[in-house]
Amino acid sequence: DLVPVRRALLSVSDKTGLVDFARALASAGVELVSTGGTAKAIAEAGIAVRDVSDLTGFPEIMDGRVKTLHPSVHGALLGIRDDADHVAAMRAHGIEPIDLVVVNLYPFEEVRASGAGYAAIVENIDIGGPAMVRASAKNHAYVAIVTDPDDYAAVLNAMELNTGSLSLDFRKRLAAKAFARTAAYDAAISGWFAEALEIEHPAWRAFGGRLDSVMRYGENPHQQAGFYLTGDKRPGVATARQLQGKQLSYNNINDTDAAFELVGEFDPARTAAVAIIKHANPCGVAEGATLKDAYLKALACDPVSAFGGIVALNGLLDAEAAEEIVKTFTEVIIAPEASEEAQAIVAAKKNLRLLVTGGLPDPRTAGMLVKSVAGGLLVQGRDNAVVDDLDLKVVSRRAPSEAEMADMRFAFRVAKHVKSNAIVYAKDRATVGIGAGQMSRVDSSRIAARKALDAAEAAGMGEPLTKGSVVASDAFFPFADGLLAAVEAGATAVVQPGGSMRDDEVIAAADEHGIAMVFTGTRHFRH
Ligand code: 5GP
Repeated sequence: DLVPVRRALLSVSDKTGLVDFARALASAGVELVSTGGTAKAIAEAGIAVRDVSDLTGFPEIMDGRVKTLHPSVHGALLGIRDDADHVAAMRAHGIEPIDLVVVNLYPFEEVRASGAGYAAIVENIDIGGPAMVRASAKNHAYVAIVTDPDDYAAVLNAMELNTGSLSLDFRKRLAAKAFARTAAYDAAISGWFAEALEIEHPAWRAFGGRLDSVMRYGENPHQQAGFYLTGDKRPGVATARQLQGKQLSYNNINDTDAAFELVGEFDPARTAAVAIIKHANPCGVAEGATLKDAYLKALACDPVSAFGGIVALNGLLDAEAAEEIVKTFTEVIIAPEASEEAQAIVAAKKNLRLLVTGGLPDPRTAGMLVKSVAGGLLVQGRDNAVVDDLDLKVVSRRAPSEAEMADMRFAFRVAKHVKSNAIVYAKDRATVGIGAGQMSRVDSSRIAARKALDAAEAAGMGEPLTKGSVVASDAFFPFADGLLAAVEAGATAVVQPGGSMRDDEVIAAADEHGIAMVFTGTRHFRH
């Protein structure tokens, strides 16, 4: 099932990596055929390339609307190489087979997002490109179709391994990706029409929303995705104004939402707060005298995970805070507002997305959360319980100090936004260790303590900040072990919902170690 690559057709709008790829193909003995701008770029690099007009005997016409839409091209892509009639037809019409097709499409999505006019958007609907992509992908039995510059290296690698050939399995994977690309491309185009005409997108019915955008992909590159608006005007990622940066990805939107909902818990009239989110979990949250101060405290919790994170602030992004944030590679900043000076600082990082929302979401408002399962939708109200409204009960012999109490409220506020099982260590209104998403509470407890140790080591501190911290748990400790792990890490006070069959055992363990313990009576599971 190996097909040698003898002739390649290249026609790309995004010319990233093109020249290097073309050079490598040429030196592997592949004949290159190309369209106008692509051929020009290749030829200018001193690499031999044939113009596609040479193949078709027909010039590019109508400003490039028709350049590869020709039987000489499509016959070369679609011909079945071991079908006698196909082979005869190719011979009769002088059609030379093409084994590798490298196409990426007119940048419809980017042009649309740039606010270009109607005519420019229409002109950027690629016709010949998708036709070649689909023809080559259909004929993957003989043809390899590359639609993503990120795959150039893999193609060269595979060719080298197979002395210039590509395997059927490899061609199938490329074909699958190619159809995913053309499907997403057409979805973007139909979404644009649907939005302009305010008509219902075929897929909307299931979700009851209005299509905002089609993303390049979903959680993973092989998943398609769109962003639908419900019309709820809650300040947040869906209603925010994006001041700069690329289009938000699916994961960006998910994480930005988690980040901003979390800082919404902190009343800006009382405190400045910052959350840094990775994979929908906070890796650092802090209150501070200023937003810069809060950011630095949040960053210190887990500076390794903060790389490539999403930063949410509960107040106006000022120059001071912006200057600190841009020092670490950050995907998105979201804040109610941003000063002009801060905007100028962020503008130096052109890929960094900056979103302003005009306000903070109210954590107490009711709302609906929807999650799909196979064959159904699960719907529930938003978790709008706020620790300040809860009746906190001291259950230990020792009563917590005022500082412990303040940190416990802080930690429980954060724990609400950490995937279960959630364990949050906090000190001086900053997280110092977060354990998320573990199947056992004791593991979350240990991981959080471990992360605090790592952070202390990285910062050259002798002791982890969990020494003398408080700890919050999103749900009750079913056994004393989780609590004991926290004691071992140095926590002096514990806040948790309570309600376990073994509460007595857990309280006894707390008393034995002089730990202050508070029950909230409210659980914050989050999955
Ligand atoms: P170039 O920069 O080489 O002039 O153009 C490359 C772009 O043209 C690619 O994005 C490719 O998808 C697109 N393309 C190739 N053939 C055709 C065609 O026949 N019609 C249209 N509209 N686009 C084409």
